[in-house]
Amino acid sequence: MSARSRPFNFSAGPACLPLPVLEQAAAEMCDWQGCGMGVMEMSHRGPQFKSIIEEAERDLRALLSVPDAFAVLFMQGGGLAENAIVPLNLARTGKVDVMVSGSWSAKSADEAARYADVHRVADTRAEGCLDLPPAASWSLRQEADYLHLCSNETIDGVEFHDLPDLRPLGCDAPLVVDCSSNQLSRPMDWSRIGLAFGGAQKNIGPAGVTLVYVRRELLGRALPTCPSAFNYERVAREGSMFNTPPTYGIYIAGLVFRWALGFEYAGLRGLAAIERQNIDKAAALYAFLDRSALFFNAVAPAVRSRMNIPFFLREPQLTDTCVQAATAAGLLQLKGHKSKGGLRASLYNAMPLAGVEALVDFLQDFETRHG
Ligand code: PMP
Repeated sequence: MSARSRPFNFSAGPACLPLPVLEQAAAEMCDWQGCGMGVMEMSHRGPQFKSIIEEAERDLRALLSVPDAFAVLFMQGGGLAENAIVPLNLARTGKVDVMVSGSWSAKSADEAARYADVHRVADTRAEGCLDLPPAASWSLRQEADYLHLCSNETIDGVEFHDLPDLRPLGCDAPLVVDCSSNQLSRPMDWSRIGLAFGGAQKNIGPAGVTLVYVRRELLGRALPTCPSAFNYERVAREGSMFNTPPTYGIYIAGLVFRWALGFEYAGLRGLAAIERQNIDKAAALYAFLDRSALFFNAVAPAVRSRMNIPFFLREPQLTDTCVQAATAAGLLQLKGHKSKGGLRASLYNAMPLAGVEALVDFLQDFETRHG
């Protein structure tokens, strides 16, 4: 199937992957680089897979300019498992602060509460999670083991475009960032981060791989009850090989990293090109929604997500018709999250600007026909 005939897939995750990556994986499925084995069939301790994981880590570090002060871990369990793994590794004194900005950080707070005393420094749910109050207004606890926030709320469509600097606010707690749905979409401000984690199944690869970026000085703080396979210090020491890592997912992630390094857009290359295209894609859809008489997004403009754009119809009874017509037009997986209704367009790195333009044309046409 050629790139042109493929439908545009707006899934929130697992999400579309770059076609060249899928094609290369298909070509190498039964025989990776002439070694006589597919990647799924090779030992994680053999020289072939060693070269795959080492190159993947090298490329990821180059893309995101990850400092040497951070270990990069390829783990399993996804974002929800990290909600438990993080407190098991970091909640030494049992005090965890959480900024609740939407559905995912709310879940993080609830899970951490199984292991620690959780304090919600702010909670925007009563106002519908449409804005982010400034960090200066959060009720931070100086003595917290860490402060958790979600840099992009996949369901609510709210993104931190700048991570807060807690030090001027008198808080030395390390910042833990759930970056599941915006990692690799833009640079990360490592100076503000203690630990970041995210499942791969949005911008990076198949579900089953979790990326963890952890400041090395935070290693070695795990509670005695922390499972060894989830002990960051142990996993880092063994180069993500304490247990068998998700080898095929890591291989696909490596192909995505190589694709991202060579990605070109608007005269830019690599992550700068990816970020520029993400800005342009989101701007095109928000501009349409803001001028539409039928569709709208209610998130405060300064905190609107570039990755996940929930939107609604002023005539909600047309929602299902709209989703079905979009599917028939080759615009897939636009149904909103079940907790919100409406529609949601996820514009991850592998979604080209042409896909967003096709979506805007479709929505415009739908509005003309039903307005
Ligand atoms: N955090 C965020 C921001 C997410 O978007 C998701 C998944 N959509 C999760 C956590 C949970 O990830 P997983 O399903 O991989 O556990």
